[in-house]
Amino acid sequence: ALKLANVTKSFEAHKVIDNVDIEVGDDEFLVLLGPSGCGKSTILRMIAGLETLTSGEIHLAGNRVDRLPPSERDMAFVFQSYALYPHMTVRRNIAFPLIMRRHRWWFHLPVIGGLAKRRIERSPEVREKVERTAEMLALTKMLDRYPRTLSGGQRQRVALGRAMVRQPSAFLMDEPLSNLDAKLRTAMRAEITQLHQRVGGTFVYVTHDQIEAMTMGTRIALLRDGTLQQFGTPREIYETPANTYVARFIGTPP
Ligand code: ATP
Ligand code: MG
Repeated sequence: ALKLANVTKSFEAHKVIDNVDIEVGDDEFLVLLGPSGCGKSTILRMIAGLETLTSGEIHLAGNRVDRLPPSERDMAFVFQSYALYPHMTVRRNIAFPLIMRRHRWWFHLPVIGGLAKRRIERSPEVREKVERTAEMLALTKMLDRYPRTLSGGQRQRVALGRAMVRQPSAFLMDEPLSNLDAKLRTAMRAEITQLHQRVGGTFVYVTHDQIEAMTMGTRIALLRDGTLQQFGTPREIYETPANTYVARFIGTPP
């Protein structure tokens, strides 16, 4: 389960997140929804550990995590600009978090470091994880290719693969589809939903698109100027909007 309790964030005197409470179960798909500037990315960044909290607490799987560094939070992120390493194959891109988990300073040395990384990449344990991940994302045939030879959607799947390979308990995504064209975006929405159903875990997905939220989320947190307007299932939000702002944003007929 993921829980945010009384989370507040100020940048200098400016309060951008005001007392937000959200709680979802282990296998839920939480969507943070709202217009530009409402604070979605700031909340996601606090969950990820890329931003400190001004006050409040964040708990994941029963542990308080808001003081832990990002690397100790058992979460993976996919951001809008899915930067892959252009000089690495798809296989190495996906394996990268597993390789870096055993990082030593001399990994940066060209010859010895290269050999050590290749050895980890070729270990049965890493191969198995990478291949299972690639299979889930229909990337098996592309493992030995380089990112520049892939389409936008394929690259997006490699970025997802890199995030999944460590089997995190939470999966954080900030508008991961906003660079894709409409057709690909529809296809990727379905893929991410299926991915969630297959691998489980808590997904937190940021979008300003209410259709994306309604079709993908098991729960939606709708924000406005840093305050939570409503938190509920897509159906609850659609059928019983808490106020006119929610009704208008979601498009509930009056
Ligand atoms: P978008 O949909 O445009 O990405 P968002 O909902 O993700 O918007 P945030 O990026 O969370 O919005 O920003 C929320 C508010 O906090 C905005 O008013 C923004 O200007 C402000 N903000 C974000 N980061 C900082 C910062 N480092 N310093 C000062 N203000 C910030
Ligand atoms: Mg944002």
